[in-house]
Amino acid sequence: MSRTLDPELRRNLAERIRFYRELGIYDFYRRDAGPAVEVASEAVPAAAVATIQPEEREEMTPRKAVAVAVPVEEATMFAAPKPEAGVADPVAALRVIREDIGDCTRCKLHKLGRKQIVFGVGDPRAELMFVGEGPGADEDEQGEPFVGRAGQLLNNMIKAMGIERKDVYIGNVVKCRPPANRTPERDECETCIQFLLRQIAVIQPKVIVALGAVAAKNLLAIQAPMSELRGRWYEFRGSKLAVTYHPAFLLRDPRQKGEAWKDLQMVMKELGLKAPGK
Ligand code: SF4
Repeated sequence: MSRTLDPELRRNLAERIRFYRELGIYDFYRRDAGPAVEVASEAVPAAAVATIQPEEREEMTPRKAVAVAVPVEEATMFAAPKPEAGVADPVAALRVIREDIGDCTRCKLHKLGRKQIVFGVGDPRAELMFVGEGPGADEDEQGEPFVGRAGQLLNNMIKAMGIERKDVYIGNVVKCRPPANRTPERDECETCIQFLLRQIAVIQPKVIVALGAVAAKNLLAIQAPMSELRGRWYEFRGSKLAVTYHPAFLLRDPRQKGEAWKDLQMVMKELGLKAPGK
C-alpha cells in the first residue's frame, strides 16, 4: 500500500497544522490510527487517515516536525493535556516535564554521541530566562547549560546586570549536544523545542533573552539577520522577548560585547535592574 499522500490532502493537512500553530498548539501526538490509506479525493474526507512522510514535513511547518498518523476530523485531539497541567508548584511541574522527557529518543541527537540530556538550570520562578541553542561538550559532560567558556561569559553578563546566575533560568532549544558542536538542525529543533516551551509555560518569566540567531529564530519562527532581530521587544506567550548575541559568538568577536550590553540594558530597564555600583 502506498504511503504517499495525495497532494491536495497534504496541502489541506499543512493548512490545518499551520492553523493550530497560530493558536499556539505545537505538540502533535501519534495516535494508533491503523494502517495508512491511500486517499484520492480532492477534499479531506472525514475519516481520512494520513501518514505524513519525513520529506513532507519540511514544507508543512517551519517550527515543529510532525510525525503523525491522524484522523483529520479529530484534529482538536492533537492538543493532549500536558502531564504538568494542574501542577501548581513550578519546581514539581519542571520535574514532571523532565520525567516526561525521560531517556529521550525523539530526535536523532539521541544517537549522535550525547552523554546526557541537559534539561535546564536555575530558579523555577525566575523573572528572567536565557535561552541558547544547545549543549556543548562541557554542558554534555556536566548536565548543565552554559558551564563552559561561553557559560562563564554568560555568568559575567548576568553579574553585570546586578543579579546572579541562581536568580535566572537557563535553557536551550535542544537538550542534547549536537555532534562536533554543530548547529542543531531544523528537525532536531522542531522536535525538542516543545519541552522548552513547556518549561517557559511553567516558569512564566517576565523576560526571555534569546541568545543567538538559532534560539531567536526557533522561538519566534522568523527568519531575519541578528541586526534586525536585536534591539526590540517581542511578545512571546505572555513574556517579553529580546534577542542578543550568543556568548560563544562574543568570545569569537569581543568587539560586539558593547552591542550585547545595549541589549542587556534594555532588559535591565524592563526588569528595574541596576548595574552593581551604580
Ligand atoms: Fe529528545 Fe531533545 Fe534530545 Fe532530541 S534533543 S533526543 S528531542 S531531548
